[in-house]
Amino acid sequence: MKKEYDVIVVGSGPSGSAAAKVLVNKGLDVLIIDKKKLPRYKICSGIIFKKSLEITEKYFGKIPESAFVKPKYLKGVRMWESGTKHSDWPFDMECGGAPNVWRSEYDYWLAKNSGAEIADETKVVNFKKDGCYVELTCNRDQTLSEVRCKFLISAEGSLSTIRAKFDPEFEDSIEWYVAYQNYCKGSSKLDPEYYHGFFDANFGDVYAWFNCKADYVVFGTAIKKGNKLEPYLTKYTRFLADEFELKIDKVEKKASCMGSNICSTSRFYLGSGNILFVGEAAGFLNMFGEGISSALSTGILAANAICESIDTNKEPVPIYEKMAKREKRYTTNSWKLAERMAGRKVM
Ligand SMILES: Cc1cc2nc3c(=O)[nH]c(=O)nc-3n(C[C@H](O)[C@H](O)[C@H](O)COP(=O)(O)OP(=O)(O)OC[C@H]3O[C@@H](n4cnc5c(N)ncnc54)[C@H](O)[C@@H]3O)c2cc1C
Repeated sequence: MKKEYDVIVVGSGPSGSAAAKVLVNKGLDVLIIDKKKLPRYKICSGIIFKKSLEITEKYFGKIPESAFVKPKYLKGVRMWESGTKHSDWPFDMECGGAPNVWRSEYDYWLAKNSGAEIADETKVVNFKKDGCYVELTCNRDQTLSEVRCKFLISAEGSLSTIRAKFDPEFEDSIEWYVAYQNYCKGSSKLDPEYYHGFFDANFGDVYAWFNCKADYVVFGTAIKKGNKLEPYLTKYTRFLADEFELKIDKVEKKASCMGSNICSTSRFYLGSGNILFVGEAAGFLNMFGEGISSALSTGILAANAICESIDTNKEPVPIYEKMAKREKRYTTNSWKLAERMAGRKVM
């Protein structure tokens, strides 16, 4: 890690890597920082929807075989109203369906292929403005160091240290949800080539899901922060057992993460000055919790806005705001649709 870069991207998820790729292509000196050791685990169903696939292939090429997991492609999303009634949202079968990937492998491949320098196991703990630079304080192995950049991109996912320090008032206004997911050795008669969703409010405040990955049956739910998980998960697990013969031999892994209601309340946070927010850090997450497409596309838009700002000497955020209008509209409409489908507020 040097002392200075044109752009520092905090976060090596799809939003950060997509931004880095565009900036490196422009000839800029770019550093990606991630607090985790890469490749890192990311709680996710790992389904690459059509828009994500198109952006991935356009900017990075074909997803490597090593990122795929069994079943390699999914046929669609199956939303269940009860144990017997469902509606299907088919994926594009012309390209074989939607790739089913391990996020650790897919994300690491994106980051390496961005061409940016990568500093992993390095957490950004603070930042300050220093003239036209932003100076970051990083923690690696309990040792603090400073690094500065002309433009900063927060691609930190839903919990953004930079956003929290940048705008504490906005941060206080956010409502939080917690997503839980179990990875189990076991079986069920739910079709493994579909991603299954259940809007029944007894199973969670948003919706509950089920899918198969490698030898695992994976199921989870999302609830409002502060609510107790146990009653929801117990009812949901019992329902899966009664209706779909879920059998759990062993729970191999339990994972959780936080998600915000920025997406469903359309209060996207794109930044100001030379600090830009992308992906979930900016609040982009679509219904069903699909967020890779908007992470990739907002990463690219923010990077394009920075490139245009350098060329025209104009502020990057107003350019980014203009470019991101369609993405915002898409996300907002997707949550309206989710509410119509569920017949209740979902987030
Ligand atoms: C249960 C679940 C299932 C999902 N399934 C799907 C799916 O099937 N398909 C889909 O499209 N979307 C899915 N999503 C959504 C998707 O995972 C996210 O929207 C997407 O990962 C957001 O990408 P991102 O780049 O914004 O952030 P992330 O992928 O979250 O990456 C953020 C990165 O920033 C790093 N970081 C954070 N803070 C700091 C810091 N201060 N310093 C250094 N590094 C930092 C983190 O370690 C992380 O690597 C799912 C989400 C959940 C919770």
